[in-house]
Amino acid sequence: MYKKRRRLKKEVIVGAVILLAVIIIGILAFNYFSYHSSYTYKLKEIGYQDDEVETILNNLEDTQIDDILEKEYNRNIPKLIIQKYFIYKNLDRYSKYMDENTEESPKNVVAIVNVNGDYDYYTHTKKTDMSKKNLILTNKYNYLDENYTPEDLIKISNRYAYEDNHVREEVNDQYVSMWKAANEEGLVLIANSSFRSYESQEAVWKRYKNQHGEEYADKYAARAGYSEHQTGLCIDIVSDGAIANDFEDTEEFKWLQKNAYKYGFILRYPKGKEKITGYSYESWHYRYVGVEAAKEIHDADITFDEYYAYYLAK
Ligand SMILES: [Zn+2]
Repeated sequence: MYKKRRRLKKEVIVGAVILLAVIIIGILAFNYFSYHSSYTYKLKEIGYQDDEVETILNNLEDTQIDDILEKEYNRNIPKLIIQKYFIYKNLDRYSKYMDENTEESPKNVVAIVNVNGDYDYYTHTKKTDMSKKNLILTNKYNYLDENYTPEDLIKISNRYAYEDNHVREEVNDQYVSMWKAANEEGLVLIANSSFRSYESQEAVWKRYKNQHGEEYADKYAARAGYSEHQTGLCIDIVSDGAIANDFEDTEEFKWLQKNAYKYGFILRYPKGKEKITGYSYESWHYRYVGVEAAKEIHDADITFDEYYAYYLAK
């Protein structure tokens, strides 16, 4: 009786030990296989360091990580994916541009590639999307139809402009409101140039080209169809006695910097953004985009090209 009980006790202990061993091996095996099939393991195997793995896991969706796993290790990727305006489909172009332009920050790389700035001017061009209304984009890659003339062009009163300035009706209304607000502070804005037809832009560009060659013409004038002035949505603003970049030194310019967005206007070609806009700094060129977009562009401190690429074209 006593012996039997002891044997039974022994069997129970042996059975429990075996069961425990099976459970432990099971857990270890499960952990082993789940780790080896995890993104962390796979990314590390390609060559990503712990912090890079964390960045990738925190910023990309599963399908995008699957795609990364198909590629070789790329040290640019963790730096690019944390940028605010990163667009996944541009990843390979960002990385290529970054390798070829090591002086550019990842932030600039994303901005430049988003607006097609990694392509030569006037290549990869397309007819711009007219359904965007006040937000239609014209730049070195997006053009207007040669027959396009806004239907509601009206003349800006000579009180606010030099002779022969025309813009779209809404633009005129907002410009006049802006003019009055500036004038209450003793400032006088003058619309110097606004709507230009396809034909007149073509004449300017061809004249430059005939006199100085194509490179010069492209540097100082937009090609016909690519000028924002054909949209009827922009105005070159000056003040008395200050033309071109002298305008930058005026009180009128400083006032516009602070207030233009409240009336729907933005400085279209800011200083230091040449590689993004494709244009040299122009302190006088203001584009109407509507109050809502102008505030967003102003608050984010980005160009219209970047805004369009990220919010409207993506
Ligand atoms: Zn202009």
